[in-house]
Amino acid sequence: MLQINNIETFYGETQALFGVSLDIAPGEVVSLLGPNGAGKTTTLRSILGLTPAKTGAINFDGKAITGAQSHTIARAGIGWVPDDRRIFPTLTVARNLAIGRKKTRFRSWSVKEMFEIFTALEHLMSRECENLSGGEMQMVSISRALLGSPGLVLMDEPSQGLAPKIVQDVMKTVSRLKSEGIAVLLVEQNAQSALAVSDRAYVMDHGKVVHQGPAAELLEDAPMRERLLGV
Ligand code: ATP
Repeated sequence: MLQINNIETFYGETQALFGVSLDIAPGEVVSLLGPNGAGKTTTLRSILGLTPAKTGAINFDGKAITGAQSHTIARAGIGWVPDDRRIFPTLTVARNLAIGRKKTRFRSWSVKEMFEIFTALEHLMSRECENLSGGEMQMVSISRALLGSPGLVLMDEPSQGLAPKIVQDVMKTVSRLKSEGIAVLLVEQNAQSALAVSDRAYVMDHGKVVHQGPAAELLEDAPMRERLLGV
């Protein structure tokens, strides 16, 4: 579904990624872990074409997307749940969701299905987004990404700042996406809950991939987890 081959990404003169390679199969959930500043968000931004990789190659769904415009990449079927959620605060929930609608070759989702996944959402549709709680905003952000009919969803710290019950709901949604054949790349500080729903994990440090392997291995091997993640 996604192959990243040896990318290097810069912010101006500053190099943030040093030869990062990563791949994701259809319907696979992959965690991308590592300390602050390791390059996780930059990897997502490189995939999305927001901070394009200077060298290396990125393929999605059998096509090269290296150097493509962000809107072209989104239309190819990559959804994004950004860490700052990027909801339009003065628009209603319904408008924010409508903005996310796109058709791709992947499964499309209805707003009704979003109400089934996030039961609280239906009663929020006419509310302006600036009045929502963090958890409610995250529901809108994930729903908006799904309404864009993605084959792969990139989630940047979706559980950040949320109550444990809502973190559980977010992780349940990740499992639901997997069961529908949708791949997820999950950047998380909360390694344990991310690993519990992931097939594989990558760990980054200083702009490089320093470990890759089955998620279960990292979850079960406490000394390895301590060494790589400090938790
Ligand atoms: P975090 O969990 O803090 O978001 P991260 O693993 O996502 O960490 P990145 O945000 O990808 O890390 O940052 C990777 C490197 O790139 C860091 O050294 C960071 O300081 C640098 N960096 C990130 N954004 C910018 C920017 N807009 N301009 C310059 N340098 C940046």
